[in-house]
Amino acid sequence: MNAFLPFSRPTIDEATIAAVGEVLGSGWITSGPKVLEFEKVLSEYFGGRQVRTFNSGTCTMEIALRIAGIGVGDEVITTPISWVATANVILEVGATPVFADIDPVTRNIDLDKVEAAITARTKAVIPVYLAGKPVDMDRLYAIADKYNLRVIEDAAQAIGSTWKGKPIGSFGDFVSFSFQANKNITTSEGGCLVLNDEIEAIFAEKYRLQGVTRSGWDGIEVDVLGGKFNMTDVAAAIGLGQFAKLDAITAQRRKLARHYFATLGKDFEQRTGAQLPPEDYENTNWHLFQVVLPDRITRPEFMEKMKVHNIGVGFHYAPIHLFKLYRERGFTEGMFPVAERVGRQIVSLPMFYAMNEADVERTCMAMCDVLNGPSN
Ligand SMILES: *Cc1c(COP(=O)(O)O)cnc(C)c1O
Repeated sequence: MNAFLPFSRPTIDEATIAAVGEVLGSGWITSGPKVLEFEKVLSEYFGGRQVRTFNSGTCTMEIALRIAGIGVGDEVITTPISWVATANVILEVGATPVFADIDPVTRNIDLDKVEAAITARTKAVIPVYLAGKPVDMDRLYAIADKYNLRVIEDAAQAIGSTWKGKPIGSFGDFVSFSFQANKNITTSEGGCLVLNDEIEAIFAEKYRLQGVTRSGWDGIEVDVLGGKFNMTDVAAAIGLGQFAKLDAITAQRRKLARHYFATLGKDFEQRTGAQLPPEDYENTNWHLFQVVLPDRITRPEFMEKMKVHNIGVGFHYAPIHLFKLYRERGFTEGMFPVAERVGRQIVSLPMFYAMNEADVERTCMAMCDVLNGPSN
């Protein structure tokens, strides 16, 4: 029997482990020089834009909403198919989440439905780039301009993804990334926010650490209510080591995605009734390789049967609007039918940097076996 193949696994190289050891031995283990170095490297990658790091991706979105002045009485449009964090931050600032259904092909928010959901109270939209696939960025920003909306891009999964050759994050409004353990590059936990100017960046620093600003050599002032969201130098040292590999990681994931398509063959969808993701090697960083199962097999049954082949399968995500917290706010079954079907049947196959083509082949064989009996 082959060893267990998880759906995701981080790869931390020896140089990074040594760098973390150095930080731990240095006497300064919280936010310090490594955080500044990591922010500088990220800013260069994002075309010189302002970047600040945090201890999660979630808090970056909450902070962006606060900087934009969004709160009670304001509506924010987002997708039901994301990690629940995306909608929770809207509630966290006292605003009202409004969901727009997804596109069945990209599984991202449907921009036509975004436009249809806009009201006089709409202040912002939070698109999510599921599996690292961007939405149509030209259309997104055309809508934002037309209706005077702020955009908080939930690019948690999209580091290394591009649009027309430009990295996601190097243009646009607020762009939020996560460095949680399963993401393409990790700091174990962490995130960063790309901002528009120094004024926003100073606000981000305040919200990040108790609202404190320093004045003079020993003076501090507090003028906004901030929290405790700073990244540590330990985490930043991991991030620097990971960032150095970003291009290699993206290239390897694209290669694995190609191999999935090649191995499954052109008639896979017809043969099985399952739906593959759009075949995109240009923009997508292939954070996930997601398949929507045919209705004749339930997701728990599929996951159980894949486990018999010693293959781990993840699922991303259950529709947010059907969680109790959201049902209590008036959302019910039937409101977003595409999201509900995708949310019921979507699975994430193994996809990570240290995987090889034999792992892809093993996964495809197992999946074909589970879906249709013995594969060819
Ligand atoms: C990972 C993720 C988040 C949250 O990031 P954390 O760093 O875990 O707070 C939010 N949205 C999406 C789409 C994610 O994948």
